[in-house]
Amino acid sequence: MGRWGDEDVSARLTVDLDAVVENYRRIESTSAPAAVASVVKANAYGLGAIAVSGALYAAGCRRFFTAQLGEALALRNALPDDATFYVLNGLWPGTEIEAAQAGIVPVLNSLDQVRRWRRVAASWGGRLSAILQIDSGMSRLGLTREGVRVLAGDPDLLSGFEVQFVMTHLALADTPGSCWNDIQLATFEELSNLLPAIPRSFANSAAALTRPQRPGDLVRAGIGLYGGQAIASGPNPMRRVVDLSARVLQVRDVPANTGVGYGMTHVTRAPARIATIAVGYADGWPRRLGGRGAAFLDGRRLPVVGRISMDSMTLDVTDLPRSALDAGDFVELLGENQSLEDVAAQAETISYEILTNLGPRLDRTYARYGAVPLDGRVSA
Ligand SMILES: *Cc1c(COP(=O)(O)O)cnc(C)c1O
Repeated sequence: MGRWGDEDVSARLTVDLDAVVENYRRIESTSAPAAVASVVKANAYGLGAIAVSGALYAAGCRRFFTAQLGEALALRNALPDDATFYVLNGLWPGTEIEAAQAGIVPVLNSLDQVRRWRRVAASWGGRLSAILQIDSGMSRLGLTREGVRVLAGDPDLLSGFEVQFVMTHLALADTPGSCWNDIQLATFEELSNLLPAIPRSFANSAAALTRPQRPGDLVRAGIGLYGGQAIASGPNPMRRVVDLSARVLQVRDVPANTGVGYGMTHVTRAPARIATIAVGYADGWPRRLGGRGAAFLDGRRLPVVGRISMDSMTLDVTDLPRSALDAGDFVELLGENQSLEDVAAQAETISYEILTNLGPRLDRTYARYGAVPLDGRVSA
């Protein structure tokens, strides 16, 4: 009984906003004099876009990138008017007026988008802005080489609104030694030079950290803010932002030759103690980590045995002293002993996916930064 307390919480996700701000400042200082925008798409990589953006605004950030217009509109209402929101996925037909009215700045990814924004801008008295994206070789989003040539030959297409930046995105920024970075940047420079002089943006977190001498005019920082490892190898210079701990639901003694979990993929060889904890794949814990992940208790590794269930998973805690762990206790899934990168590597994915999968059932708590409106509960 005593171990449960009065908290009705299955798993606790703590987001350290001070660490987010510290990571922002670190990227700012390596990128100066470039400005640094915060990428807060996908609910700030799953951590809570309003809380994260509020803290970053209070720390001086004024530029925010989302992927979708809806994400930008939600944040627009939550932050003061001098924050600017950019929408990476472009300007969809029929959304021009809504975007213009809310002062959202679209990233224009095609000639069609340029033409539609120009048409709306004509009736807005020159008050609208945009970013122009060029595809420099990733084949994902942005104007083609031909598209840029058309713009270069018809400067009138870019009249009536301010193009704040011309941008591109690198396919291998996390691999700084790759020649593709230089090839893409050369293409970006060549195509940008066809257009009027416009400030440039190409660096995500990885490019900002690996090209500090030349980060362009605007860095678009995402994963680094959230404590993820931006560069594929080497030490992670960012401060940890996320801690995740899960509650122990039950601990049981099982004899040798006993199956554990769905499919009985684990069978005990000797008498064992099994702890069931309250995080499963519905909370974003990768099902791939069945039989190979772990949780930690006071620095001790507790291996996952058997498959990950929807709402729980099972740990082998045989080696712990009996009194060390009981129902109601919390064990660490992300934190000092296990990083996002550890989990991502075991699950054969990237930290971005681990973060963005963290589910809505997790009890999010924000370690406070500044006097800003937050969408979660604030712990002092
Ligand atoms: C997501 C995204 C970013 C942020 O990248 P990180 O690697 O998370 O820093 C920057 N630019 C574009 C176009 C993106 O889609």
